[in-house]
Formats: sequence, C-alpha cells, structure tokens
Amino acid sequence: MSEGDVVAKHVENLHRGLSALGRGEHPIPEALGNYRWTAELILATWQQAETGKPPTNGMEYKVGRSGGGFDRLAFKFLPPERRLPADLEPDLSIPLNRRPEGERIDIALPTYGGGMSFGSVSLNFMVARCMAARQLGTFTSTGEGGFPDALLPYKDQLITQIATGMFGVREETIQAARIVEFKYAQGAKPGLGGHLLSDKVTAEVARMRESVPWASLYSPFPFHSVYSVEDHKKHLDWVRTIHPKALLSVKVSTPTDVDMVAVGSYYAGAHILHLDGGYGGTGAAPEVAKKNIAMPIEPAIGKVHRYLVSEGVREQVTLIASGGIRTAWDVAKAIALGADGCVIGTAEMLAVGCTHCANCERGRGCQVGITTTDPLLSQFIDPDWGARRIRNLYESWKLQWRDILRSLGLRSIRELVGRRDLLLYRDR
Ligand code: SF4
Repeated sequence: MSEGDVVAKHVENLHRGLSALGRGEHPIPEALGNYRWTAELILATWQQAETGKPPTNGMEYKVGRSGGGFDRLAFKFLPPERRLPADLEPDLSIPLNRRPEGERIDIALPTYGGGMSFGSVSLNFMVARCMAARQLGTFTSTGEGGFPDALLPYKDQLITQIATGMFGVREETIQAARIVEFKYAQGAKPGLGGHLLSDKVTAEVARMRESVPWASLYSPFPFHSVYSVEDHKKHLDWVRTIHPKALLSVKVSTPTDVDMVAVGSYYAGAHILHLDGGYGGTGAAPEVAKKNIAMPIEPAIGKVHRYLVSEGVREQVTLIASGGIRTAWDVAKAIALGADGCVIGTAEMLAVGCTHCANCERGRGCQVGITTTDPLLSQFIDPDWGARRIRNLYESWKLQWRDILRSLGLRSIRELVGRRDLLLYRDR
C-alpha cells in the first residue's frame, strides 16, 4: 500500500468512526473522558460536529459530572408563556473593542478560537480553524511561534500571540494580524511556561521559530522584561508602534489577585482581557498543574467583572474567558457571570475527532492528526472537512444560545453579561 493509500484509508475509517460514535453506536464509550469532559459530552460534541444540531437522542450535551462550577449552575428560565417567540432570533454578536479609539470589530458569535501554535498542532488543523472562523464571522489564534504563509489568506480572522519565548515574533507576523495577544501565562500551567518537546520541532517548525530542529523549546515564565504595569505598558506601546491599528489582548492565568492584573492591563491600554482558568489546555499540560495551580475560571470571571465595574472601567474593555469552556451552556453561564464572550480550544479539537487521550505532547502521539507535526499524520485532517465540522459545532451552539436567550426573555447576548441573578445552583 502506498503512503497515499494509507492516509486515504485512515481518513475514511476516521470519518466513518466519528459518524458512528456521534450516533452513540460505539461499544466502549466508558473508555472515554473524565468527570469534566464526560464520554457523553465527547460523543455529543462529535455528533454536533456531524449534524450541526444538538443531540435529540437523550445524550447529555450541556453539563459534565464534576459536581462543581458550570456543572452545578443552571438558568432561571421564564415560564413558557413569558418566553420570547421561537421565530425571534436574538443577536449573538459581541464587540471586541469597547474603547472609544481604534478599529471597531464585532464578531458574529460570542466565541473565538484559542491559541494553538504551529508546532503544537498540524498545519492542516490550523487552516481548518481559519476557514471555519471566516465562515462563522469570528477569529482564531495562531498561538505563539509565528505562523506559516498558508494562513495569510485568512489574516482578517487572525489573532497572533507574543509569548515569553518570543518564538516566531517578527514585525511582519505582528502586522499581518488584526489582534495581537500578549500571553503572560496559560491557565492550565501558570508559572511553568510553555514546552514544545523535541519530537515536534521539525525543520519547518524550527525555521519558523528561528531555532534548531529536534531540540526542545521552552517559553520561560514570566516575561523577564515585565515586572510592573509600567513594563507591561511598554510592551503594548511596542506593538502599537509596529502595528497602530491592531487591537491588543492580554492573556493571563487566574491567580488570586487577577482582578488587580486586569485593571492594570486596562490602564496599560489593552482592548481585550483574556482570563485563562485552570481547566484549560491540551493533554500537553501536566496533570498536577492543571488540577492544582490556577483558580477555576468561574470565580475568576465574577471577581474580575465586579472589580472592573467598581473601578468604573468595565464598559471600556472586553472580558473574555477560557479554560474549560466545553459547551454552549458553559459559554452562556460564563457570560452571565460577567464575561463578554469565551475562547474555545478543546471543543474545536473534539469536533475533528480528538479522543481526549492526552498524548498531545508527543510528535507522533496524536492518532487523528491534530497535535502533530509529522507530515504523514498531519494529512489525516483535510482542511475543508475539518472546517465543516468546526462550523457545524458552532451552528449547533448558536441554536442553543438563541434558545437560552429566548427562555430568559433577552433579545441579545450582550444583555446577558453579568446577569448572575439569572443563575441558580442546580442542587438548591
Ligand atoms: S486525540 Fe490528539 S489532540 Fe486529542 S488528546 Fe489525543 S493526542 Fe491530543
């Protein structure tokens, strides 16, 4: 069998398997998932990516079984006779720039794609995410490490990151993106920096990152040039000088003083405050870090939202949450807690067949071609197919958000921001 035949056969099997799993026909779903990403949530995500609609076969697609956080919260819906009519389509768009100056950018749905770097994921998956973002009217992030020319046709949908390793940071990559994000830390592993293990550092990845092939790369923690809000402002001023039109995002993890960090970032000039809570990240993050360091995203959102309100600057900044946002319902709850919108990572990987096996850090560990730079495995994701599945997932989420808003009597997702009064504990 030629290499091309092997790829074609695998892709055929993958597509057939995902369709069957999405219909709940696989015999061993117990082998999947954990208390947060349960087997049912994984199967339901596959099914939504296949059909573009929420499951109707009784599969749980709204919450996991962790017993806390989003899984413990529910909405106080209006009685059926007071809900908005089913033919009314609440507005799902959110603004990414709420400051009086700078480019006005609204996205058509309250989410965009999280940072996944060239090197951590395959080029085909990056292209699929870009295509889906364009079709949906939103953004996706290149993560750190620069980005290949294949993404330039989608530059209007691109966020690029500047992280502590400064890998791939060049004036032309910054100037190509409409949003530039400083990544101070990742919620899954705050204080540990980033690691790209040698298996994944192919010649092409090394060229992009101006490093040496097959040598592990470490992004240190923290930025060694930033020890104060004033230092932070100098960083943002630097990007403003290179690319005056760019919107500036600041991604931070969730330490206990995250509210102070958020206000400091606002005064330094950030348009977007991106909070990354402790449940996020791929299988590349150590379990001990994921479970024990950062604050979960739910309390962090409320803490930052309230502090920005008390400082009188909440209306000037876009607050975005990530780190364990799994479903359309998690997004809606995060917004009710105080976020404007959410960043999505793992759910997009699941849309194209991720099994949540946590082998992401290995060069040839990803059997579906997502977190790999191996040229053969990378071909398992056809960009058109991947884009269609990611778009389908969000089409299903859009139906759910509109249903939630109508059931709350709201005409826009913006009316939901900070409405903690519409939430209740499921067990009380
Ligand atoms: S299937 Fe691939 S992307 Fe998903 S957890 Fe496993 S190695 Fe990571």
